[in-house]
Amino acid sequence: MKVVLFDIDGTLIKAGGAGASALNKAIFELTGAKDVCARFSLQGSTDKSNFETAYKMGCGRRPTAAEARRVEALYLKILPAEVAAAVKGKKYSKVKGVEQFLKNLAGNKEILIGLGTGNLKGGACLKLEPSGLAKYFSFGGYGCDSRHRSDMLRCAVKRAEKTAKIKIQPNAVFVIGDTHMDVLAAKEAGYHSGAILDGFGDAREIQKSGPEMLAKDFTDLNPWLIWLGVRRDPKGVRRDTYICPDSPIEHAQYGRTGIDLNDIEDGVKSLRLIKGTV
Ligand SMILES: [Mg+2]
Repeated sequence: MKVVLFDIDGTLIKAGGAGASALNKAIFELTGAKDVCARFSLQGSTDKSNFETAYKMGCGRRPTAAEARRVEALYLKILPAEVAAAVKGKKYSKVKGVEQFLKNLAGNKEILIGLGTGNLKGGACLKLEPSGLAKYFSFGGYGCDSRHRSDMLRCAVKRAEKTAKIKIQPNAVFVIGDTHMDVLAAKEAGYHSGAILDGFGDAREIQKSGPEMLAKDFTDLNPWLIWLGVRRDPKGVRRDTYICPDSPIEHAQYGRTGIDLNDIEDGVKSLRLIKGTV
């Protein structure tokens, strides 16, 4: 069983700045400070972390636990109207090819599709709702689980294990996002990482973070499906082998544990076939 975790903003959808606008309004109502989100980048961070930064910019100190809860509640109250305004203003869109990608994965019994997003759970549902993509996700890790993206991803995997009632190994988890923060969080948790360049992330930062899979968007599904190991590599390259390590993580693993014994066995078999000794 494999788990594929999708980030929301810039990876599944673009909500036309609805989140930032809702947070700006919430902070203005609570602290009187205007347009605080223009002063820092929200992309790739968790809501918990962004809300704290926004509040700090609004009144010069970190929010207390009660104040943080107030920011969250107010944000969730304002967000539906902001999302609706984005849809109405034609600023809300789905990322190219993502629906086809999800449809393809949903038809695969060996794959569990989940969310790995910095959004609060309530915010994630509100942002996804107009896209019609929510039906593909039965579990996820959210910004309310942790301020740290890697812990949020681990929460998603724990929920996947609960859903599937099996233990999921880190090398069976694939994280897809649109910023270098998605990639770094995946690596920190020991998961595979893939990124698109057509989201909100900085292309150079994304490239520097070294995702295993990088594409503009999901228009061409072939490389994504090969990366996930659900479609055969046309060159016949087998994944998970010593000669073609899947990722630096696996490289390190095979480097530590020696070569894949199955490869030796396969090699000996084909040698015998060539020699005609079988
Ligand atoms: Mg994103």
